[in-house]
Amino acid sequence: MAKTFLVTGGAGFIGSAVVRELIGTTEHRVVNVDKLTYAGNLGSLEGVATSPRHLFVEADICDTPTMQRLFAEQRPDVVMHLAAESHVDRSIDGPAEFIRTNVVGTSVLLEVARGYWNELLEREPGKAAGFRFHHVSTDEVYGDLDDRQGLFTESTPYAPSSPYAASKASADHLVRAWQRTYGLPTLITNCSNNYGSHHFPEKLIPLMILNALAGKPLPVYGDGQQVRDWLHVEDHARALIRVASDGRVGETYNIGGHNEKTNLAVVEAICDLLQELAPSHRSYRDLITFVDDRPGHDRRYAIDAGKIARELGWVPHETLESGLRKTVEWYLRNQSWWRRVQEGRYQGQRLGLADTV
Ligand code: NAD
Repeated sequence: MAKTFLVTGGAGFIGSAVVRELIGTTEHRVVNVDKLTYAGNLGSLEGVATSPRHLFVEADICDTPTMQRLFAEQRPDVVMHLAAESHVDRSIDGPAEFIRTNVVGTSVLLEVARGYWNELLEREPGKAAGFRFHHVSTDEVYGDLDDRQGLFTESTPYAPSSPYAASKASADHLVRAWQRTYGLPTLITNCSNNYGSHHFPEKLIPLMILNALAGKPLPVYGDGQQVRDWLHVEDHARALIRVASDGRVGETYNIGGHNEKTNLAVVEAICDLLQELAPSHRSYRDLITFVDDRPGHDRRYAIDAGKIARELGWVPHETLESGLRKTVEWYLRNQSWWRRVQEGRYQGQRLGLADTV
């Protein structure tokens, strides 16, 4: 049955992949709520933006009256909450916006969703029974695994290191509290590092691709031996829709790619792919430059994604090798997308959509 999904942060990297997947592969309607911060880009919604099942609403999740009006008018069956400040380095330079959007914004949405759900319980119990609030979070809430063994499971204690991770951990605790205290039907997912198309070029993989193409240094923090588990964004989008649709209410699901690699190995793999696909520079690997490590930099993250595989049958389709190749090819084919971002021209783009409620 076709449902209404209210997706927050749907003009961002992962949110836009979720919206493209929902519009492209399901019959559901999508209400896409995004403030269009520097990370929001309507150019990432090309192909779905004009679908009659997609409504874009430019709004701030911290704005309670607007969120109340939106829920009352759009009557969502499922909320997928992805809006956030997401860049660790920015959270170190200026944590306040992370606390505002990630903590306060999540609490606003929980309260608005609770009011809406209570009203559904009285007037439309059938719709209330199917209602879900899915909060999208990160494996960074678990801190780091300093040994080489071990994996994060859904019961690993929280030990966030950066202001970003702490703000997401706070939001996760709020979501659990709203479920335990008020019975709000919530779900949480904690995912490893994503990569793929439409990724803002401040993040490791797109930054390295674009710097390399420009012949600029490829800055690697510390010794580059930090281990991350990489997941292709389209695999993540499919996992999120699976959990939002069929996950058990009140549960947490870890999502990972089974692709553990050091940052240095990822950068070297990008250099080798570019050497093959865009051999303009004599040796991309020569551009690798080691820079001072980030304060509080976690050494290793690794996810046990067994629960989502067992309960919901989700497994990633891409390996890091196949996904990185797809990603490098996308950046080579879509220069207009990233040149607009680099030149700051994407912010004025509106694609002729309704941009306020
Ligand atoms: P992103 O920074 O690319 O996108 C965030 C989006 O949220 C942007 O479109 C931005 O305009 C919007 N936004 C920010 N503040 C807002 C506000 N106050 N009101 C409404 N919209 C607002 O982030 P992303 O990488 O797509 O991450 C999406 C979610 O997934 C985040 O919650 C993040 O914590 C989580 N996550 C990300 C990763 C990753 O590797 N990128 C991994 C695990 C979890």
